[in-house]
Amino acid sequence: MADSAPMIAPEERQDASGIMERKAQTLVNYINKSKHLIVFTGAGISTSTGKSRKTSLTEETGIPDFRGPEGVWTLRKQGRLRTSKTATTLQAVPSPTHMALVELQNRGILKYVVSQNCDGLHRKSGILPVRPPPQPRLASDSVLTCYTRIESRNFMGTATASIVGTVCALCDGVLIDTIINFGEPLPAESLQLARDHAEKADLCIALGSSLTVTPANEIPETVGKRKAAKLVICNLQETPFDKSSILRVFGKTDDLMERVMEKLAIPIPTFMVRRLLIIRIGSETGRPSVKIEGVDVDGTPATFLQTVKLENNRRVVRTEPFIINLRDELETGTQLNLVLEFMGHYGEPNLELSHVYDDAEGALALYLLEYNPLTGQWTATRQDTATLPTVSVNEA
Ligand code: NAD
Repeated sequence: MADSAPMIAPEERQDASGIMERKAQTLVNYINKSKHLIVFTGAGISTSTGKSRKTSLTEETGIPDFRGPEGVWTLRKQGRLRTSKTATTLQAVPSPTHMALVELQNRGILKYVVSQNCDGLHRKSGILPVRPPPQPRLASDSVLTCYTRIESRNFMGTATASIVGTVCALCDGVLIDTIINFGEPLPAESLQLARDHAEKADLCIALGSSLTVTPANEIPETVGKRKAAKLVICNLQETPFDKSSILRVFGKTDDLMERVMEKLAIPIPTFMVRRLLIIRIGSETGRPSVKIEGVDVDGTPATFLQTVKLENNRRVVRTEPFIINLRDELETGTQLNLVLEFMGHYGEPNLELSHVYDDAEGALALYLLEYNPLTGQWTATRQDTATLPTVSVNEA
């Protein structure tokens, strides 16, 4: 849809620092009074995302937008080729804006995020999923499809294209992607949920969007039209709803959000790659065995491991489900030293995980694995399995 971009991209401009500071304070005042804050995001919140330090690529920029001066459609319209390298969605690290939003959500200040983005960075940053329960549906070509799992697999490790068409572990449906291509309708439930929040919102902050794509742009438009609600827009270019906003910030979303968080006295958290891992001791193949699986926060299976190996065992397991057969039944107190190899999008090294078998046969153990791309370090913490109630969805 390069046709939707003008030959000359509208100018991008930035408020002077003092003006930005005053606007950030005004926004903080609005946030402090707000009872139902929603945020609407676009490609502009991802243009500053870099790759992790461990995967070095110089001269990289973030994920390009569509309609900015260096946007995908703008370049296409002008017949230009991009000269700088850009981060891929699998390697990109969430921006300070993404991380600020997670913290506002965790503290109950931010009630809902509506995003047009398909880069997976909101989910990577830790924004919780709002998914309908697993609902196989009959598609027009009469195959069962499933919306639930694809998102996890996409953002956890591997390219979408290699997953589409494989079978969902939850419902046996064929997996499709959740990207809305031009001409495709938005899923009705998601759009309705967003509209409900737009009606309920007393404050909507639109960040990094040209606000030109329908019907998504109806969300900030709805808030802007309501007398009892405030629309705040932060974008480098002008938008069609600037006049209906109560506060218009011309600037980078990271610049605004860093100032806002500082004034709220809420630190922006460091991005950590978070993975949940289940270790199940059982007899999966009729023999004593260890099964290792990745899972998302809501129990949806998640692919993020390439291989698994048990120390002193020559076999490297390379395909899911990762099942390692044992020679004998395990005794309570036995220590299993597992070597986990990840997808490596953040240059993450292998993790050696020591798991002590201390449960009855068939019991599962849950680990939170956290990787800091800045330090290159993994930490593994055993969790109470009750913290993941839907884990049983995938039990054999
Ligand atoms: P858009 O390209 O139309 O507009 C992005 C806007 O962000 C531009 O006006 C640009 O000036 C502004 N911008 C760029 N960097 C900014 C920054 N650091 N701070 C503040 N503003 C900044 O994109 P859109 O409005 O999100 O909608 C177009 C469509 O683009 C959507 O359907 C979306 O799915 C798709 N898209 C998504 C991604 C992504 O997921 N990262 C990337 C490109 C396009």
